[in-house]
Amino acid sequence: MGLVEDIRDRYLDRLSPATFRSRLFWRTVDTLARSPLNRPQWKADRVSLSYFIRATRDAYLRRAPVVWSNLLFPSEIIIGSGCIPFYPEMAAAVVASAGLAPRFIDRAGEEGFSSDACSYHRCVLGCALEGFLPEPDLLLAVNYPCDSAPLSFSFAADLYGVPHRVLDVPLSGEEEDLEILAEQMEECAAAMLSLAGMDAGEGRKKMAEAVSFSNLALRAMRRVEEMRKRDDCTLDGKDAMGGVSVLAGSMGSREGTEYYRLLAEELEERGCAGGGTIRLMWMHLKPWYAQGIFDALERHGARLVCEEYTHATWEELDPERPFLSLAAKVAGHFLVGPAERRARHLARLARDYRVHGAIHYNHWGCRQSCGGAMLVKAALQEIGVPVLTIDGDCVDEREYQEGQLSTRLEAFLESLR
Ligand code: SF4
Repeated sequence: MGLVEDIRDRYLDRLSPATFRSRLFWRTVDTLARSPLNRPQWKADRVSLSYFIRATRDAYLRRAPVVWSNLLFPSEIIIGSGCIPFYPEMAAAVVASAGLAPRFIDRAGEEGFSSDACSYHRCVLGCALEGFLPEPDLLLAVNYPCDSAPLSFSFAADLYGVPHRVLDVPLSGEEEDLEILAEQMEECAAAMLSLAGMDAGEGRKKMAEAVSFSNLALRAMRRVEEMRKRDDCTLDGKDAMGGVSVLAGSMGSREGTEYYRLLAEELEERGCAGGGTIRLMWMHLKPWYAQGIFDALERHGARLVCEEYTHATWEELDPERPFLSLAAKVAGHFLVGPAERRARHLARLARDYRVHGAIHYNHWGCRQSCGGAMLVKAALQEIGVPVLTIDGDCVDEREYQEGQLSTRLEAFLESLR
């Protein structure tokens, strides 16, 4: 049994918003996480687990100002400004993995949120309405990759009575436009420093530390990526996708750096077992509550060797100009701009990782991802990579048809032999 299920089973019958605000609860979580019975597959996972438990506990116990963000908002800025980053989309994934998402999605539905909207955000809004999330002091959203966060954060800002800012990313990539984005980031950082009660001097020092940790993490991440290009590297995509939370939420922290350093070292130590597998790329994210689809891949000798969201997409940050280089990090992301940019990025990944096929998981309600699926499929087919598109939902298990998926998956894998 995993840690999340263990906690759920212990607390299910007395789960209330107050549970998460109790120090005893967090001590129990910490004890369970450290127990020898909880053995993460990789040493690095222990580091990320303890980081997220600590950050989430501190957010609920309000040990520093809490800032909600969506996945493209650089955690370096929040950590470097003395605040606690909280990524509600990641919280939705945890709620889904505990099998509790339907209850909160239904609550959002009762409030009038359309079932056409992304279930990550419906789940989060349901949790917020029931008082289960740590109260934010500020909400910061980037207007990419989709409108979900700017819109649901606007609702949450009213609900909690706190400010909400949206970073507007310019598309030209010109230095002048990056400066405009950098200025918006600097304003956000100033607001967070004021919340954290830090002066500009302390802020500069902390930001420099965050930038330096982020650069070290990036170097280690590149080592992980090189290892994964080799035949049958032992890290499988179903586990690697858990690293999305590390990539989004802990860059700029010591633990984010440690996570990638340990992962690179362990991959190098364990080495590679040799070839012979079907190499696959996974696009969009996985269903967080289901394992069956990955078991089917394993049974057929297939391995996810790369995933859309687990790669470094930026260059090292400049400690002299942190905001400008963070602006370049955001504006340079393949999810910013037209869908063709995403398609080109995925085709490049497929080539670099020598994949035999690719799976596009059509998460219900995700316009940016599902809307571009045919374009992505065409780009991959052009370079000889067959694509399977499957419909489902990352968060709402009621939209997941295991039998149907397995049949289509098996037929696809057979065709790749
Ligand atoms: S899954 Fe799609 S719609 Fe939902 S938050 Fe992510 S990008 Fe936006």
